[in-house]
Amino acid sequence: MTYLNNKQTKDCCGCKACYEICNHNAIVMKTDALGFAYPEIDENKCTHCNLCRSVCPFENGDNVKFDNEKSVSVVAVHKDSEVCFNSSSGGAYSCLCEVLDDGNTYFAGVTIDENFKVYHDISEDYKIFRKSKYVMSDTNGIFKKVKACLEEGKRVVFSSSPCQVAALKLFLRKDYENLITVDVVCRGAPSQKLFDECLKYTEKEENNKIIKYIFKNKKPVNGKINCRSCEILFENGKSVCRDSKSDLYLKFFNSYLCKRESCNSCNFYTPDRVGDITLMDAWHIEKIYPELNPLEGVSAIMFNSDKVKNILDEMKKEMNTYDISTQKLIELNRTLRIAGPHNTHRNLFIKNYLKGKDLRKNIESSLKKSLNYAKIMAIKKKIFHK
Ligand SMILES: Cc1cc2nc3c(=O)[nH]c(=O)nc-3n(C[C@H](O)[C@H](O)[C@H](O)COP(=O)(O)OP(=O)(O)OC[C@H]3O[C@@H](n4cnc5c(N)ncnc54)[C@H](O)[C@@H]3O)c2cc1C
Repeated sequence: MTYLNNKQTKDCCGCKACYEICNHNAIVMKTDALGFAYPEIDENKCTHCNLCRSVCPFENGDNVKFDNEKSVSVVAVHKDSEVCFNSSSGGAYSCLCEVLDDGNTYFAGVTIDENFKVYHDISEDYKIFRKSKYVMSDTNGIFKKVKACLEEGKRVVFSSSPCQVAALKLFLRKDYENLITVDVVCRGAPSQKLFDECLKYTEKEENNKIIKYIFKNKKPVNGKINCRSCEILFENGKSVCRDSKSDLYLKFFNSYLCKRESCNSCNFYTPDRVGDITLMDAWHIEKIYPELNPLEGVSAIMFNSDKVKNILDEMKKEMNTYDISTQKLIELNRTLRIAGPHNTHRNLFIKNYLKGKDLRKNIESSLKKSLNYAKIMAIKKKIFHK
């Protein structure tokens, strides 16, 4: 299914591969009132070559996946605490880049600038891509940039959400020996516009300008690290660490109140992965290895293609690794199996947002009424005592 045929917003992840591949500039991206971009075909320029449809990850994503039965998995934490501190999980991404950084390698991934714009870029310095930004990234012409580098004979390590990795592979239309793709397990994200508005709201409440917003904060609060929190730095020097109860954006993000419509229906919540390598949080790993604490950041890694199977030995020199079967990993990490559902009050939130209701009141009143996944699980636990 592709939005280009049916105009169903659930069938477009906004990757812009169709926009980038069109040689006739027949596609424009239009942004809706929530800040999500969708392609529109200009019939006067369109030659009906169908290239745009061929690169759509919703239409053809299944064709570029690896069979998980051949994947090799491991749980890992980087030995260097500085790397762990600057990573979302256990620093697997940094370790992978360190191992591959041979002077002829470019890294493409998602970065954030001083105006909090989240976008794809390509660089010889992988460090600008560290840490998850829980916002829908603007792919920003990345597919052409990656292709140009590959054609020049440079190695490229492209890391992104699975839909964007599938989009790149479909865009390239052939396998490049010098390309390594990394999909970070993803449960969806809200738009840049909604992120910006939450930050503006926070600035107004604090009467202070935000100069930095750091996701997945690893600074200890009351002696404990909780990587689900964020750190905000203000212009007047104030710095606060907040979790999803106290930070407006994290509250909004974690409640699935308005992630992109397609993030509930994408075809990448599957054990068969699209990247040569898959990175994720090793949630629930303490059930197998009680000495590991996922709240401090522990990585789980799947090596899915033959191209990357020898990298694990190199990574083992830099990371403490723990054995796990791919089947066990799939059992532990539900995002490898099923979509994180939309909040039951998503529509109510959107209706009030479009009416211009105060953002905090809208988020909080929608959440009061809603049954999100955590609440459903808590109710089930009460009823079934398990
Ligand atoms: C929107 C989003 C939702 C996620 N949801 C889950 C989940 O439900 N379960 C789970 O196990 N893991 C999830 N992750 C992955 C997890 O948070 C870590 O990114 C992953 O484990 C890698 O961590 P690391 O320590 O190895 O490296 P890090 O240094 O943290 O690596 C960050 C990597 O993420 C990429 N990245 C950052 N922001 C984005 C973005 N907005 N879009 C696409 N790619 C991005 C960068 O290019 C880089 O490769 C999610 C990530 C994102 C971005």
